[in-house]
Amino acid sequence: VIEIQHLSKSFGAHEVLKDIDFSVKKGEVVCIIGSSGSGKSTLLRCINLLEKPSGGQIIYQGENILDNKHDIHSYRTKLGMVFQQFNLFNNHNVLGNCSVGQVKVLKRSKEEAEKIALKYLNVVGMDGYVNAKPKQLSGGQKQRVAIARALSMEPDVMLFDEPTSALDPEMVGEVLKVMKELANTGLTMLIVTHEMEFAKEVSDRVVFMDKGVIAEEGPPKQIFNNPLQDRTREFLKRTL
Ligand code: ATP
Ligand code: MG
Repeated sequence: VIEIQHLSKSFGAHEVLKDIDFSVKKGEVVCIIGSSGSGKSTLLRCINLLEKPSGGQIIYQGENILDNKHDIHSYRTKLGMVFQQFNLFNNHNVLGNCSVGQVKVLKRSKEEAEKIALKYLNVVGMDGYVNAKPKQLSGGQKQRVAIARALSMEPDVMLFDEPTSALDPEMVGEVLKVMKELANTGLTMLIVTHEMEFAKEVSDRVVFMDKGVIAEEGPPKQIFNNPLQDRTREFLKRTL
């Protein structure tokens, strides 16, 4: 679905991403792991253009979307994003959170948007909370609403940046369970995570980032049981 070539990103003199080549295929579940500061979030933020890459190409549907003439707006609607901090709209209830974007950006009618929102709230097990405001929900519930909100836009790819890192430990499981179910439906997912067991279980491919480069990538069996690179081995030793 998305192919990245020679992507680089610097903040001033600090080169955070160095010549990244990477792609996600339709239906693939890819987990990105790596130390703090290795550039995982920056990579996701460059993919959805929350950050402007310093160089390289992002190929989507055969076109480089970093070309000046390209319609960035329509590209961004094809990517769903779930953040560590939920980022729900606090002034909207759960149903509103999952439908306003559809109405504003996709120009769906309110009725249609709410119908679609309900469908995805059901998928994440939050259809019983349509009238609740975010502040009435637990962290795990908020994150499930955030996932439903992103799904309601019916994106081609879902991007997750450490979706369980801000949660109390007892709520991590409910969010990972929803993500596992989504992975099994054939949704294309790109997930930055520190949950190694989860990554082992759901990934088709694992990408290990170190100091702004992809140090190793491969099937979870390779990465977790038989890494080819010493630095992958070192990282896993530190985290397990
Ligand atoms: P973590 O696991 O802690 O989330 P990460 O792998 O997601 O780490 P990034 O957030 O991508 O790492 O950051 C990579 C590097 O880029 C860090 O050194 C960080 O300080 C730097 N960086 C990120 N965003 C900015 C910014 N807006 N301005 C300046 N430096 C930044
Ligand atoms: Mg990060």
